[in-house]
Amino acid sequence: MNTAITVAHGDGIGPEIMEATLHILRESGARLDIEKVEIGEKVYRADNTAGVGEDVWDSLRRTGVFLKAPITTPQGGGFKSLNVTVRKTLGLYANVRPCVAYAPFVRTRHPNMNVVIIRENEEDLYAGIEHRQTTEVMQCLKLITQPGCEKIVRYAFEYARHHNRKKVTCFTKDNIMKMTDGLFHRVFDEVSREYSDVLSDHMIVDIGAARLADTPEVFDVIVMPNLYGDILSDVAAQIAGSVGLAGTSNVGAKCAMFEAIHGSAPDIAGRNIANPSGLLLSAVMMLVHLGQPDEASRIHNAWLTTLESGMHTADIFTEGSSRNRVGTREFANTVIANLGNLPGHFAPVQYTATDADTLVALDLRETETLRLARAHVPAKEIVGVDVFLEWRGDSPNDLGTRLSQVAGGELTLTMITNRGVKVWPRGHSETFCTDHWRTRFVAGGNRITHAQILSLYSNIVAAGFDVIKTENLCTFDGEPGYSMGQGQ
Ligand code: NAD
Repeated sequence: MNTAITVAHGDGIGPEIMEATLHILRESGARLDIEKVEIGEKVYRADNTAGVGEDVWDSLRRTGVFLKAPITTPQGGGFKSLNVTVRKTLGLYANVRPCVAYAPFVRTRHPNMNVVIIRENEEDLYAGIEHRQTTEVMQCLKLITQPGCEKIVRYAFEYARHHNRKKVTCFTKDNIMKMTDGLFHRVFDEVSREYSDVLSDHMIVDIGAARLADTPEVFDVIVMPNLYGDILSDVAAQIAGSVGLAGTSNVGAKCAMFEAIHGSAPDIAGRNIANPSGLLLSAVMMLVHLGQPDEASRIHNAWLTTLESGMHTADIFTEGSSRNRVGTREFANTVIANLGNLPGHFAPVQYTATDADTLVALDLRETETLRLARAHVPAKEIVGVDVFLEWRGDSPNDLGTRLSQVAGGELTLTMITNRGVKVWPRGHSETFCTDHWRTRFVAGGNRITHAQILSLYSNIVAAGFDVIKTENLCTFDGEPGYSMGQGQ
């Protein structure tokens, strides 16, 4: 029986590499019914700020599987990232990017590299919640949630187990972002205890990234928050040999999207020179996911055979080691001619039915740890408030004196920071200050009410200050739910 999938040809080189990929899929015997949809530039230009029409959502709800060519994001304000919209709308929380070296056929300094990067896809700085708060300061909100961390970390360990991977490494920056990245790291440590058959370790993302770029062969699976994963998966694909070779899957509980990691490459569009391999390998992941492992294996082995034969597109063609420089269509025809052949140098691939990504069905709302975590709602108390001001004075001591007088009642001003650096009391005259001030008021460890915060807010505004926002300082079961102030 055929499986329905939604297919978008995209922009730039999208239509060429999609045609090549669909041609190979047809010839491989893959059992697919294709629902073609339009996304990207044309849809953006038709005044749809997300670049995706209702018909696409309808098709995706029906099929649950999206094979997508790259699209061009129009320049200028007002347009939303189509990729971020699709991932978040469909809850595609896990982005899986295998980055494999194909030496000696594709040039790389890291011939033994075989890393899978699992990137959290819905949270972090990608919420798109940004504000200009003052004349000088912009803010972007970084949101990390306990369920979000648990879903992606659990996915990484399940992936490792299903794919015979030995180790999962976690990258965070929790030495600086102790609460947000700290949560990701803590959940990683907790979940890793349930997977004693898989090794686990954690690295600060900066040294981790340096090691990944230098000795990628020491890594196996790496799981990380959205932004680090976005950047490092491109680095990993590039050092493996070419961004044109890597395919990726975006997986959620109800839907999955498969695409190449590269963009629409407008510089080479329409010239029949683009490498279709990234999209093709994502289609192989799709077939595995759809439970068509034999067709997936046939295509993967034919593709490896083609690489070994030296029939290379321009992006990976190397004088001396490659045999023929071929175009997109000729490359696809060679893969088709190789269907049924096995590679000689690389180990042949043999997917099995059990590789079908059972994780898609794993609805993390039902996991035991999440259920237990949700069963206990911690006692929450407000014990203070951070009031953020736009203020163009230059003496933090003046600000401190004036705000201390305004505070009144039980609330006391305890600290003022500028960009996270304490400037009152006892600041340093060398500290560079902007027009963005965080002023902290507490009641000596006692609980305070929303009414007290409102009254403080009114008093500060009445004294002539421009309040830009407040953040409540809360304790959860007595534990402070806020950083202590001084930026580290
Ligand atoms: P790009 O990945 O399109 O191109 C970067 C370089 O790699 C170019 O020199 C290009 O010619 C080359 N390249 C990319 N894919 C190739 C392939 N398959 N074969 C041979 N060479 C290839 O990145 P960009 O130029 O920064 O972005 C172009 C457009 O793509 C932008 O509008 C961007 O927003 C969009 N984009 C879309 C996606 C997506 O839809 N998933 C992802 C990234 C970028």
